[in-house]
Amino acid sequence: MERPIDSDTGSSPGPEKSAGEAAQSAGEAAQSAAAPLASEYFNTPALPVDRELTGRSMRQSALVTRTRREVSRDEPSKNAQLLTRAGYVERLMAGVYSYLPLGQRVLANLERIIREEMTRIGSQEVLLPALQPRENWDKTGRWETVDVLYKLRGDGQRRGDGQRELTLGPTHEEVVTPLIGSFIRSYRDLPCSVFQIQTKFRNEARAKSGLLRGREFRMKDMYSFHESLEDLDAYYERVQEAYRRVFERCGLGAVTFLTFASGGAFSRYSHEYQTVTPHGEDLIYLSTEKGLAINHEILEETRNLPEWKGVELAETKAIEVGNIFKLGTRFSDAFELSFQAKDGSRKPVYMGCYGLGSTRLMGALVEVHHDDQGILWPAEVAPFSLHFVSLFRPGEESAPADQLYEKLTRAGHSVLYDDREVSPGEKFKDSDLLGIPNRLVISPRTLKQGAVEFKSRNSKESLPVSIDDLFNLGPETLKP
Ligand code: ATP
Ligand code: MG
Repeated sequence: MERPIDSDTGSSPGPEKSAGEAAQSAGEAAQSAAAPLASEYFNTPALPVDRELTGRSMRQSALVTRTRREVSRDEPSKNAQLLTRAGYVERLMAGVYSYLPLGQRVLANLERIIREEMTRIGSQEVLLPALQPRENWDKTGRWETVDVLYKLRGDGQRRGDGQRELTLGPTHEEVVTPLIGSFIRSYRDLPCSVFQIQTKFRNEARAKSGLLRGREFRMKDMYSFHESLEDLDAYYERVQEAYRRVFERCGLGAVTFLTFASGGAFSRYSHEYQTVTPHGEDLIYLSTEKGLAINHEILEETRNLPEWKGVELAETKAIEVGNIFKLGTRFSDAFELSFQAKDGSRKPVYMGCYGLGSTRLMGALVEVHHDDQGILWPAEVAPFSLHFVSLFRPGEESAPADQLYEKLTRAGHSVLYDDREVSPGEKFKDSDLLGIPNRLVISPRTLKQGAVEFKSRNSKESLPVSIDDLFNLGPETLKP
């Protein structure tokens, strides 16, 4: 069968007015009115209707990837096995992955959720360089102490710059502190917070856990700047609420616990977010009663504190998906970052930093949400909301399925339409492996009854639904 290059629904313009016509008639109406139209100042044509639909749905026959039966033995982790078999990611070398169309959709969903929640607490998005000069790392002494740094040199082709030593950022305090510092003069410029979602590089000793431990991976890192410790404390609490919402929306809320960890020189604790699963690399001590945990590094010193005395703790394996720190003045001292206080004196800026690994989060999701058949994506992160499986032969016969596909997309669903010419058994197997939360099957038999068969990925039962009824349901209704 021909593979259509265009992944859109390929629909014709339809009866709606084109954007040009609409703008023209609006223009005519406005001529008689007194005030000039905004379009006389700005060139902002309305979006054509179909632009809105582009990329929402696609035909499976057009997907560049296919599912695989076997995965290399170098891929021992469950998350990488399932994600590779289903065609979400592909390993280039240990700890380094390509994100394929389905995987990129999931990652984009995760990063959208993170972006929304960080923006909601007033942080502003930036994008900082991955390539960083050694000088910045010498200022903090971390060129010598961070053992996972990739270190490189220019290739010598440019005079002067050729021998400059560089690193690929494993984190960004060394860049963000002098950068934001250059904009902070007085207390009026504080507090402020910036975040980015970016590729990070760490030369990890062991990279055998798939997406959980990459040498190249993605992280959201946020940095906040404050005039006092109290203000940092208050923001730190808001960050905790934002993190809680991220994990809820990603479908990991029930198994992700705020965990006390060592705080470094400045504060007693930092906090990790640990997702409980049997394949986690970390050991935590969980109190289900408190809904909190203690990291193994600080177990002894912490369990004797009055607030933990007598609390029952269960040793549990978990994945560190996030880590937040009060940095105090550690980095502002290194870069001489200070501000003029209200009383005219100069004071150091207090900083916090807040990490959340988006690719590790994707791996953790698969570790938590899978069964023997494949992945079970939570609704908000799934690559598509509906897997629409047609058992018609592609061609003229499949016209009713094609039409329903379009109609579902226009009704607001994001649909992966399995229009391939393969056996029903293979389609169902792939569908379970891919893990899209809702499945609709249409066949000559169901069509005779004016129906499709609905099945949620996390239930065994299929239910007939009349096609007319489908459109009485909003896109929300079909989510599990
Ligand atoms: P770990 O102890 O697992 O090596 P870390 O404590 O060194 O991680 P942080 O510096 O706290 O990691 O980074 C913040 C977040 O970035 C982590 O909570 C995790 O979600 C993510 N992260 C860190 N290292 C990796 C990695 N190698 N691969 C994927 N994600 C990572
Ligand atoms: Mg950490």
